[in-house]
Amino acid sequence: MRKILFASSEVHPLMKTGGLADVSASLPIALREHGQDVRIIMPAYRQSLQHLEQLETVATIKLDGYHSAVDILQTTLPDSDVVLWLLDSPHHYDRDGGPYSDPTGQDWADNAARFALLSRAAVKIALNEAGLDWQPDILHCNDWQTGLAPALLATRKQRPQTVFTIHNLAYQGLFSEDVFQALDLPDSLWQMEGLEFYGMMSFMKGGLIFADQITTVSPTYAREICTHEFGYGLEGLLSYRLQQGRLSGILNGIDSHIWDPQQDAFITKKYSSKTVRNKALNKTALQQHFLLPENKDSLLIGLISRLVSQKGIDLAVEAMERVLKVGHDVQLVCLGSGEAELEQALRVLRARYPDRVGITIGYDEALSHQIEAGADVFLMPSRFEPCGLNQMYSLRYGTLPIVRNTGGLADTVVDASDENRKAGIANGFSFDEPATAALEQTLLRAVALFARPRIWRSMMLVAMQHDFSWENSAIAYIELYHHIVNR
Ligand code: ADP
Repeated sequence: MRKILFASSEVHPLMKTGGLADVSASLPIALREHGQDVRIIMPAYRQSLQHLEQLETVATIKLDGYHSAVDILQTTLPDSDVVLWLLDSPHHYDRDGGPYSDPTGQDWADNAARFALLSRAAVKIALNEAGLDWQPDILHCNDWQTGLAPALLATRKQRPQTVFTIHNLAYQGLFSEDVFQALDLPDSLWQMEGLEFYGMMSFMKGGLIFADQITTVSPTYAREICTHEFGYGLEGLLSYRLQQGRLSGILNGIDSHIWDPQQDAFITKKYSSKTVRNKALNKTALQQHFLLPENKDSLLIGLISRLVSQKGIDLAVEAMERVLKVGHDVQLVCLGSGEAELEQALRVLRARYPDRVGITIGYDEALSHQIEAGADVFLMPSRFEPCGLNQMYSLRYGTLPIVRNTGGLADTVVDASDENRKAGIANGFSFDEPATAALEQTLLRAVALFARPRIWRSMMLVAMQHDFSWENSAIAYIELYHHIVNR
C-alpha cells in the first residue's frame, strides 16, 4: 500500500470545468479500491462547500508568502471513502464564478496567488509539516495549478516522490515576473532551468522540470507534445524528459457507473449490447427534445463540448453546412458553451436548417447523457485531444465516434476502414487532416455505412464491448508509483 496525496484544482462533483475533474474523482476512488491510502487536496471553493456536510477543521497552516493562516477542512469525497482535504482560504476561494474566471469569463486577477497557495499547501502536507500526522510516499500533481509544488519540493530532504500529470498542455499558467516576485518564491527558480519561460513565469514548467515523473493522459499525446505542432515551445524540454524515461502516457478511464446505458437514470430507455434495439427509443426522445423530425433513418449526430478552437467546432460547423446543403439525411444536436463566435456559428447553422439542427448553449449533465444515448454518432473533430472522455462514453453507449486521429482519440477509436471492419475491430470513424474537407468525407462515409444496418450494428457491438473502466489505468498508475519510489 502506498500513501498518495492527490492535488487538483477541480474534483467532480465539487467543481468541474472539464475532464480534469472527472479524473480527479475517478482515479483516487479506483486507487482506493486497490487498497491505496489516497487523499485529495483541493481549494474550498464556495460552490464546493455548498455540496458538503460534516466538515471538520483538522489543521491550520501558515504558508510562506501569505499573511493569514488557512484551515484544512476534512471530509470524504461524495459516495466514496476517499479522504478529501479542502484548503479554506475565503479570501481566495469564497466567491461566485468558476475556479479560474469570474462570472463574466475573465480570469481572476489573483489566479497566481490562488494556485500558488494550493501548491504550497500540498508541499506542506507532503513534508508532514501541516500537523496532519500523515506523510505521503507520492505527491501526485495535476496541471499548471499545482505545478509549483514539485518545484518547491525538489530541494527538500525527506520528501515524497512527485508525479505531475498533464491533462492539457495548452493551459500553462503564465504570469509576469512581477507576479513571480510577489509570490515570494525562491530566487533560484527564476531561470531557464526553472520557472522562467521567455520572460514570463510558467507554473507548468515547475511540474515539467522538477517532477520525478511526468505523465499525460494518453500514450499518443505523450509523443505528440514532444513535437513542434503540439508542444507550445516546451517540446525540447519534454523530448528530453521522454529520453530520460521520465514521461509516459496512461489513458484515462471513465466512470463506468455514471456512464452505463444499462443503469443510466437520465435516459428514456436503458439498454445494453443485448438489448441495443432499445437505443432507438432514446433517439426518438432526443429528436423530440430538440424539436426535430422523428425520423429513424436520419443519421443523428451528437456533439457535447466546450466550444473552443481546440475542439474543432468550426470544422464541425463548416462540414455540416456542406453535408446539409446537398440534402443528406442527417441531423445534428449540440450541447456546449464557450467562445462567442462558435456559439454564434452554431446558432446560424440552426437558423439555416431548423429541421436538421438543434442546439443548447449551456452546461447540462442530464442532457449530455441523453445525447450519448440517443445519437447514432458522436462528433469530436478536435485539433488536439490529450485524452478525451466523450468518445469513450460514446463507445460505451454504442454511439460511434467521428474523431480526428490525434491524442487519446487515436488511442481509442478504430476507423471503419474495410480492413478494420473485416478484422472486427472498427468502432468509429477517424480522419487525419484538421480540415473541413477531411471531416466532410468522413461524415459521408458514416452516412453511407449507416444505410447498411447489419454492418452498423456489428460496429456498435464492437464499440460497446470495450472496457474503458478505471481498472486498467489505476493499475498502471500503481505500477508507476511503485517504480518511482523504488528508483
Ligand atoms: P475537456 O476536459 O477538454 O473539456 P473531455 O472530453 O476530457 O474534454 O471532458 C469533457 C467533460 O465535460 C465530459 O465529461 C463532458 O461530458 C463534459 N461536458 C463538456 N461540455 C459539457 C456541457 N455543455 N454539458 C454537460 N457536460 C459537458
